Amino acid sequence: MPPDPLQLSAVELVHAVRSGDLTAVACTEAFLARIERTNGVLNAFLAVDREGALARAAEIDARRRSGKPLGPLAGLPVGVKDALCTADLPTTCASKMLAGYRPPYDAEVVARLRHADAVIVGKTNMDEFAMGGSNENSAFGPVANPWDTSRAPGGSSGGSAACVAADMAPVAIGSDTGGSIRQPAGLCGITGLKPTYGRVSRRGLVAFASSLDQIGPMARSAADCALVLEAIAGHDPGDSTSLRDEVPSYTRALDKPLTGLRIGRVPEHFAAGLDPEVARGVDEAFAVFRQLGATVHDVRLPHAHHGIPTYYLIAPCEASSNLARYDGAHYGHRAEPGKGHRAEPTNGHRADSGKERDGAAAFESPLVEMYCRSRAEGFGPEVKRRIMLGTYALSAGYYDAYYAKALRVRRLIRQDYLDAFQTVDLIGGPVSATAAFPLGEKTGDPLAMYLVDMYTVTANLAGIGGISFPCGFTAGGLPIGFQLQGPALAESLLLNATDRFQSLTDWHRRRPPLAV
Ligand code: GLN
Repeated sequence: MPPDPLQLSAVELVHAVRSGDLTAVACTEAFLARIERTNGVLNAFLAVDREGALARAAEIDARRRSGKPLGPLAGLPVGVKDALCTADLPTTCASKMLAGYRPPYDAEVVARLRHADAVIVGKTNMDEFAMGGSNENSAFGPVANPWDTSRAPGGSSGGSAACVAADMAPVAIGSDTGGSIRQPAGLCGITGLKPTYGRVSRRGLVAFASSLDQIGPMARSAADCALVLEAIAGHDPGDSTSLRDEVPSYTRALDKPLTGLRIGRVPEHFAAGLDPEVARGVDEAFAVFRQLGATVHDVRLPHAHHGIPTYYLIAPCEASSNLARYDGAHYGHRAEPGKGHRAEPTNGHRADSGKERDGAAAFESPLVEMYCRSRAEGFGPEVKRRIMLGTYALSAGYYDAYYAKALRVRRLIRQDYLDAFQTVDLIGGPVSATAAFPLGEKTGDPLAMYLVDMYTVTANLAGIGGISFPCGFTAGGLPIGFQLQGPALAESLLLNATDRFQSLTDWHRRRPPLAV
């Protein structure tokens, strides 16, 4: 009797395919069937590549039968966030702007997954252009949290998190600009790693904020994340920000004992605003680390409370520049001439505000009209808000007061970490202030939504890595996330510490009671 693929870890699954206990086709079919049953409820996938995945799996099985070598992810089904380019599948970034867009090439990470013989089952839902913390900014509808479908899965990689939590694929790829891997992983009870800036190539990741964006694995355990990270990390001459440092074996570093490991605890993290149930779960996790031989020390990150304002200047500034390419001419959605949505022209494009025809805006030329209308129709409200914030903060007269100042505070935040890592090896704490919140709770209040990333944005600003994993459940049955942050290129240690935690606890083994 072959094992049930849905019950296996990624590590076990690859082993089963390699040894012939399970065919890649049977494995792929099992996950595709699960996607078919659950996606109507969760909306975690925007595109499913049934045919492509099965063809790929059959090819892997044929290769195994003929004794040819298999890659390290042989037969492993993977969900890929729709922000990564895939040559054979649409890539929309959950935006109307890119609806139906098919990139001419695979992102480097996608190419590496294929090279490692993974099976890409589809593209996962997300907040539009990765801007959001609840997945409610998707132009194609929100994702539901598998633990309670009336709640948000977090964002922006909410589809990837829900996909893993609901066994639609054992692993998924996410991207994290301010918390988008760690926060949804925390709210969905899975393990998600944001590597050091530059550790994983971003070539082919649709750019949001280029000095912050990083791609990483989301899975049920640190061991499964290590397996995937090993396959996707490493220098890429196609991404000038990718690091040249050699990729260590993450999988082989997992079972090192934590004796003597120094973990920092930031007292400010436990100030007002942190839900008491989350605080309790996080403190219990520190106790587990003590049991594992680690010691816990108070550390200060004196500028961390400036993280949100700093991030919400730098990220929108970079976004306003990156998203300028969506002009209706080169990419994506183009408004039909003289039809559709009446755009309010901005930034001096109004030829003469006194001369409006029939109450509609007048444009200085048909070209400008096409730009304005295409962008007005193609982008959702949050993306527009970010573009306006960023354009404003970068404009002459405001640049020094906002953008340049934010860059200086960013430097202070980074220095806090460098100082803290003089005395501790890792820093632990909450991922988010609360467990999963109800869908709709924060959609009317952008500031409340921005605050969901208060514990995660600082790692992106500092360029360091962070991992989040479940450390308990609320009385209402929702997962509580724990975050570990480490110095640059400390992925081995982050994964090792998490794996040891998971060897002593079974929070990561719990499955949502999803009735489908
Ligand atoms: N929630 C944050 C934002 O809206 C982070 C998003 C991300 O990491 N992509 O910008």
